[in-house]
Amino acid sequence: MEDCYACAREGEFERLPAYQRIAVDEHWRVVHAVDCALPGWLVLLPRRHLESMAELTDAEAASLGVWQVRLARALEAVTGCRKAYVAQFGEAAGFAHLHFHVVPRAAELPEGSRGPRVFGMLRAGERAVPVERMDALAGELAAALRG
Ligand SMILES: [Zn+2]
Repeated sequence: MEDCYACAREGEFERLPAYQRIAVDEHWRVVHAVDCALPGWLVLLPRRHLESMAELTDAEAASLGVWQVRLARALEAVTGCRKAYVAQFGEAAGFAHLHFHVVPRAAELPEGSRGPRVFGMLRAGERAVPVERMDALAGELAAALRG
């Protein structure tokens, strides 16, 4: 799976920056979205290559909902967002690996970026959240998840 961004990162796990391993268990890894203009935009990834949610084992499925709720709580605590969006598409080239976006929806998020339009904040180029900011948020989110 050399053409899979998620699997390539999994393969160099010990060298990953904080924002690429905010939280990890046997089934899931939590990362900050790359090339993204919205601080705190998280992605929940299974630790093996799957391209359909239907391929999750019962054990992976059982923890999926728990992770989504835990991430929503951590985002509310750390970013002060009003709620978290959750979405799964897997359509971008190199990103077919099953992944769930967990996106902080701040009270001040502009109307034009709400709902599915929030995806306009990906492929952000020079507007992307800097690595240092992603790593700092990763530390705060990891602490919130440890509770
Ligand atoms: Zn993969």
